[in-house]
Amino acid sequence: MAENPTSNKTPQSAPSGSKSTPEPGSAASSKVLAVVNQKGGVGKTTTAINLAAALALEGLPTLLIDCDPQANSTGGLGFGRDEERLSIYDLLMGHSPADKIIVPTEVENLSLVPGSKNLIGANLELVAQDRREYRLRDALEPVRAKYPFIILDCPPALDLLTLNSLVAADGLLVPMQAEYFALEGISELMSTLDRVTQSFNPKLALEGVLLTMYDDRTNLSQQVTENLKGFFADKLLTTTIPRNIRLAEAPSHGKPVSLYDPKSRGAEAYRELAMELLSRNNMKSPEEQRRKAAAKAAASSLKSFQQPEKKKKFWQSSK
Ligand code: ATP
Ligand code: MG
Repeated sequence: MAENPTSNKTPQSAPSGSKSTPEPGSAASSKVLAVVNQKGGVGKTTTAINLAAALALEGLPTLLIDCDPQANSTGGLGFGRDEERLSIYDLLMGHSPADKIIVPTEVENLSLVPGSKNLIGANLELVAQDRREYRLRDALEPVRAKYPFIILDCPPALDLLTLNSLVAADGLLVPMQAEYFALEGISELMSTLDRVTQSFNPKLALEGVLLTMYDDRTNLSQQVTENLKGFFADKLLTTTIPRNIRLAEAPSHGKPVSLYDPKSRGAEAYRELAMELLSRNNMKSPEEQRRKAAAKAAASSLKSFQQPEKKKKFWQSSK
């Protein structure tokens, strides 16, 4: 059985380069979320792309960073993977500042730091670098304040690339499938979280565990969900992401599901996830405020249309 996610463990090795470190989150309203699970194929990239797009469509400038050498977030947003353009590799190696690497996407308010296959070698190249665990965090510092949300799509490994993401992040978002072996590997992830918290980034916390490819009709899903609730308590997010073919199709069209099929169950679920995370962070959606104001205005004009001001009779006229 995995350890309790709130437990504190002694770090297994001394950190390197943990000298004067700027506080993460110095821009008070900026939240960096690492979408992480070393298990492959659990829905990290699907979540990173579609959550980032949902937040952006709620009116919040959002930056998606593709930290995985597979570059699936980059491909899923319609960008080529092999292009000779600046990428996360250049950001980590200090070749170029973040604002020269960030590109706009088709989704309003959503920007991307593209991934690169060069990243495969970055794990090795980083080992020799100064402040090797802090490269991403240091590189993001100048642009953090521009984005209420920065979403990091991590590779399926607990390597130096993932460590850079955890050191740069404020919260971990862990996608997980409701299957019998769901907790397998989670104790390793949670002890990595403890280690990072103690050695590199004291502010890092578990933001939430998200059930993906979820089918609430099966007994197994319900049983596993109950177990996970007992284990993660309120860190198990209320929103679940259903298995939905539109989510699987969207990347081959180079779009997040919210553009590919905005009415699909998948798009709806990621919208709900965005709203849950906003509410957990006491943040407001500018779009929701606009929707509420528009609904209020529509309701009051409808009311005045239905109840026209009664004409006063001449004997009622004010003195
Ligand atoms: P990796 O560990 O390789 O990076 P991952 O954790 O990022 O994988 P994804 O690439 O997001 O996982 O998803 C794995 C596969 O499952 C993809 O083909 C994706 O389209 C599909 N998939 C993910 N979520 C859903 C869903 N809710 N419904 C249907 N298909 C899904
Ligand atoms: Mg992925």
